[in-house]
Amino acid sequence: MSGNSDFHILTTLILALFALVFGVLHFSVKSQKFSGWVGLAYVAAFVAYMLSSTRTSSTPMGLIFLSTGMFWIFSLAIAKAIYIRCNAIFPIKMVGLGLTVATAGLIWLSFVAPDIYARTLLVNSGAGLLLSLSLVPLWKTGTRLIDGALFGVIATVAATFVIRVVTINIVLGHPLTEQSYTESTYVWLFQLTNGIAALALAMVLLFAAGHAMVLHFHTESHRDPLTGMLNRRGLKGLFAAGPGEKQGAIFVRTIILFDVDHFKQINDQYGHAAGDKVLQRIAETAMELCQEYGQVARTGGEEFAVLTQWMPVETAQFLAQNICDSLRFVVHPELDSNDKVTASFGLAILSDTDSLHEGMDRADKALYHAKRNGRNQVALAKAA
Ligand code: GH3
Ligand code: MG
Ligand code: MG
Repeated sequence: MSGNSDFHILTTLILALFALVFGVLHFSVKSQKFSGWVGLAYVAAFVAYMLSSTRTSSTPMGLIFLSTGMFWIFSLAIAKAIYIRCNAIFPIKMVGLGLTVATAGLIWLSFVAPDIYARTLLVNSGAGLLLSLSLVPLWKTGTRLIDGALFGVIATVAATFVIRVVTINIVLGHPLTEQSYTESTYVWLFQLTNGIAALALAMVLLFAAGHAMVLHFHTESHRDPLTGMLNRRGLKGLFAAGPGEKQGAIFVRTIILFDVDHFKQINDQYGHAAGDKVLQRIAETAMELCQEYGQVARTGGEEFAVLTQWMPVETAQFLAQNICDSLRFVVHPELDSNDKVTASFGLAILSDTDSLHEGMDRADKALYHAKRNGRNQVALAKAA
């Protein structure tokens, strides 16, 4: 008996601990909705476990229903977390319909035609089905090793929910009654397997949350927060990923640098916030014009770079000229309508042996010439 109650205390503590860990993960990194839902799942598991382990034959039906609800919420919240992880749309209508039917069944089997075995089977199948919803997006989109582990553990746990009810009924063979239920081997096994399942699930979910967090910080560190485009580190990463396959002798890869003209005056005259809006609009315009031609990055305050795809040098020049011409016509509502924002451009052809630094250095020299020559123009760098 004491071993049993030690086990209860341990399981309850573990569930509370996981609720806390996932909650902290959620609140410390705002984008971690995944951890938020897993945290909620473990709060529900904690409440369900507390209720079911203190259940006696005189426990009111309301508390038994609450325990069932929490058990379902556990499965539901885990499934929702997995849909978020896989960027899939949660089938909310189907789940709502299923839960309504299951609740009606629960009421029927409790009050109209009481049958504790059928009710237990319904409660567990419901939880198993809700949990196995997460197998769909994992199967469709999961490519990483951790997704495979999640699939395996979730499938096992969901199957266990159903199989254990059927197995115990076959093995024990005796019909359960409301009175005998709380003393039965079934309850003991139910709590033991739930404890193990919750623990195994929490372990893989914790790995998944950690993995998602590393990816998140990696992405964050490669992006510029103001414009959402790559930053200098992101551009370096892109360059290091390799140039891709060359498509023909006349195709080259280029780097286009551009720097907004007299930007300091915009800040001085209209304020820093207005300056930020102008930068965002310039970034949007450049990204829209580049799309399949290259990747734009913000390499400094009011300086940007485009790493182009393989293309004839004339196309790269045309692209730079197009951005230059378009920027002049962008409307900036924060500025006086007579104030046009322009930029100066330097374009360098990357040789096979160029480092990004070398290419940018040459493009920067060309940009300097464009500035000296009157700004609002494109200058081509000397060959390497
Ligand atoms: P030039 O035509 O020679 O490039 O002149 P400029 O005024 O654009 O160049 P300068 O380097 O003198 O000034 C750049 C200004 O860009 C100074 C700095 O305050 C501003 N700046 C840098 N980063 C940001 C930013 O994130 N937001 C805003 N609003 N301003 C920024
Ligand atoms: Mg500058
Ligand atoms: Mg400038």
